[in-house]
Amino acid sequence: MPRVTVLGATGSVGVSTLDVLARHRDRFEVVALTANRQVEALTAQCEAWHPAFAVMADPIAAERLAAVLRRRAPDTEVLAGEAGLARVASMAETDYVMAAIVGAAGLVPTLAAARAGKRVLLANKEALVMSGRLLTDAARASGAELLPIDSEHNAVYQCLPAGGGPSRGGVRRIVLTASGGPFRTASAATLATVTPQQACAHPNWVMGRKISVDSATMMNKGLEVIEACWLFDTGPDRVEVLVHPQSIVHSMVEYEDGSVLAQLGNPDMRTPIAHALAWPERVASGVSSLDLAAVGRLDFEPADSVRFPCLRLGYQAAAMGSGASCVLNAANEVAVEAFLDGRLAFTRIPEVIESTLADHAPGEPETLDAVLDIDARARAGALEHLRDPGRRVG
Ligand code: NAD
Ligand code: MG
Repeated sequence: MPRVTVLGATGSVGVSTLDVLARHRDRFEVVALTANRQVEALTAQCEAWHPAFAVMADPIAAERLAAVLRRRAPDTEVLAGEAGLARVASMAETDYVMAAIVGAAGLVPTLAAARAGKRVLLANKEALVMSGRLLTDAARASGAELLPIDSEHNAVYQCLPAGGGPSRGGVRRIVLTASGGPFRTASAATLATVTPQQACAHPNWVMGRKISVDSATMMNKGLEVIEACWLFDTGPDRVEVLVHPQSIVHSMVEYEDGSVLAQLGNPDMRTPIAHALAWPERVASGVSSLDLAAVGRLDFEPADSVRFPCLRLGYQAAAMGSGASCVLNAANEVAVEAFLDGRLAFTRIPEVIESTLADHAPGEPETLDAVLDIDARARAGALEHLRDPGRRVG
């Protein structure tokens, strides 16, 4: 029975993962659960699952969790910090690792899982954007399986010939669909005044706050273009973005003969999660059947990178290489956090990223330390652009 570590268990993807696992207690065992600092939520999950390990990234929260679990789940050992996360991602007692930490914080444990040859269920797209080369090389060297959880990439994975990327099997292009987010039809003037609450109100998906803002700026799709290049070993020229407001067609693959294969389903992350957990088999996910008559129509329109410059910036970074992708990701994380804190206007998010990209031109990082160094410098640069909107270099 595969033993599963869920990194980011208290988040949106983490909770959906446990929902799927709860339907298959006879097939999978939960061996470790992790969170940043949500002691109460992780306590409840430990009481329900009795994992061998629980990890809090925050050491003070870890102490609090250990004190509570001594009474309520004494069979669970509590670990702390990045070292604890990397341990439960790579230990011999685990087989599958759901990488569902948000942002750069997920890189070290996700890479540890890939190096240790685990089946990595990759939701944490930022890890791949930051260090696509390191992560895919590590998986190849160790024999780790990288299975995409992002709904678009999971759809592409299902539509590609088994084990084949666009360089093989007669694939012409990959088409990633995008809902267009909550501001798909908003005017440029309206965008300047939107609030974090409006940005987080996604029409089709309930997600964590960071990815919700990414969806609203369309940086989510920019990150996903880069993610697709690494996962499917292709260039950004073969990856297109198509806006599809209903989020029913999750993505498509076009072949040389003109055939287009698409994966459809209700927008619910439990489908890609169940797919990757059971692959190559299929198991129930709890997702209801798709009722196309009730959906009625499927609309498609081109993406607008004038109102949503983050999409253009994603393509730009993808073409520049993984150092630039790392800068893009870091600047985006800094800008999104500032927006969520009410310190930055929505329309300034792409400005901060573009300025940061313009004055950082790193080479291809060859090591984890090099990636972390680029990330740290880009964050410092982005913070300066936050403070001083007038300063532009490059
Ligand atoms: P979320 O904010 O709901 O949850 C994030 C999880 O990561 C939480 O468990 C949190 O405790 C943990 N975490 C946060 N900061 C941490 C840190 N510094 N150290 C350790 N753990 C930390 O996020 P989410 O929406 O579940 O997204 C998780 C990842 O999956 C993101 O990379 C996102 O892009 C990707 N993803 C999410 C969805 C979705 O539907 N939510 C869809 C596709 C991809
Ligand atoms: Mg997605």
